[in-house]
Amino acid sequence: MVNKAKQKAAQHLAVMAYKSLQENPEAGLPKLLKLFDVLDTKDSYKSGRDFIRTILGDPSNTWYRYLLAIWEDVDSEVRFTFFQTFFLNSLLKGREEQRLLREEHQCNLPWAILVDPTTSCNLHCTGCWAADYEKGTYLSYEILDALVEEGKNLGTFMYLFSGGEPLMRKSDIIALCEAHPDCCFLAFTNGTLIDEAFASAMLRVKNLSVAISIEGDEAATDERRGKGTYAKAIKAMSILKRYKLLYGISCCYTSQNVQTIGSEAFIDSMLELGAKFAWFFTYIPIGRDAVPSLMVSAGQRAFMYQQVRSFRKSKPIFTMDFWNDGEYVDGCIAGGRCYVHINAQGDIEPCAFIHYSDSNIYTTSLLDAFKRPLFQQYKERQPFNNNTLRPCPLLDNPEQLREMVHASGAVSTDLASVESVDDLTAKCDQASKDWAVSADRLWEDHATSSVLCV
Ligand code: SF4
Repeated sequence: MVNKAKQKAAQHLAVMAYKSLQENPEAGLPKLLKLFDVLDTKDSYKSGRDFIRTILGDPSNTWYRYLLAIWEDVDSEVRFTFFQTFFLNSLLKGREEQRLLREEHQCNLPWAILVDPTTSCNLHCTGCWAADYEKGTYLSYEILDALVEEGKNLGTFMYLFSGGEPLMRKSDIIALCEAHPDCCFLAFTNGTLIDEAFASAMLRVKNLSVAISIEGDEAATDERRGKGTYAKAIKAMSILKRYKLLYGISCCYTSQNVQTIGSEAFIDSMLELGAKFAWFFTYIPIGRDAVPSLMVSAGQRAFMYQQVRSFRKSKPIFTMDFWNDGEYVDGCIAGGRCYVHINAQGDIEPCAFIHYSDSNIYTTSLLDAFKRPLFQQYKERQPFNNNTLRPCPLLDNPEQLREMVHASGAVSTDLASVESVDDLTAKCDQASKDWAVSADRLWEDHATSSVLCV
């Protein structure tokens, strides 16, 4: 009780302090950090706070330049809303609530929920499982709204959309953002449906950002996503930049485009277009029509490991590799440990890349789903490898996913075609062995103890 009151008072102070920053961020940020020290009662984000404190002392630091760019390029109200929804609600308030609930219920509770509002997509990308989905499966607005409400009661204030193409449902997404101003929303999108009207709606609701899919240069993007897609994505970024919105990119690196996506020239071009963050995903051969030859080799994955770390030192953009950055989050974040995925049919899956489930939102509450065998298997086994550069139960430790699915009785929830866990994991067996050699070498050379996702 005392802690709650203390947190509320500190949150109020943090908002006041933030407002005072508007004019002079350089002087105000250290004060704001002091308030975060008070708010972070369990020191869950101590390493992050220490890191920010270090960069504030060095104006030539890349991250210092990044913070100033956020101040200059992003609309002040959008920035303030992000501060409230992302930092105060999802990272501090939500995670503290979840710490207590996790102890009470003895299950994982996710910091973020990734949901597919629809299977429909206006593109047909090579190797994308969503391209094989039957069109027209979707979650109604009422179901999405109830899901967010249920999530908030479990301390989840971060919601991400994938698909299908989530912006096929853009009016419902905007309505959700409006209905839940205390939450932070992000849509992974191909960007082709972003226009002036949508940017204007984003500016009005303030709590939605987008990650636009880019496969590298124009030729590579159009090759995989269809002719003209790159130009439309670039146009979307120019609109978002003009409206001073927060946006970034999402890049799937494959054996074919890894040299381009990992190049300095590519990151520089995205910076020029105003991207403030970049998510990197490696190609995973999920589904009947997967193309295993698109998987990167161990050498190519190691190249991305080095490049992303080099970008962090030199480029003012937040970069995150969904696999190679396992060391910062103590391994796999799925299975409700940090996040969970709900497909357009309502199946509650551990991760967007793991299409197996033993529960569905139409018949099971989220809390009950997290207590069921599949999510309990995740909880008991995480991290899946002591070397958290080998975090994944599919890509890096395929025997783990095989055992979890068999032990839990989870079934295939792939919307294109049923795929047995044995068939799926067999496609990753060799890649996991190859990567183990490189990852173990990297692990010996450099391992960080920084844990951001608790
Ligand atoms: S299951 Fe694999 S892809 Fe999903 S969060 Fe865990 S490590 Fe990442």
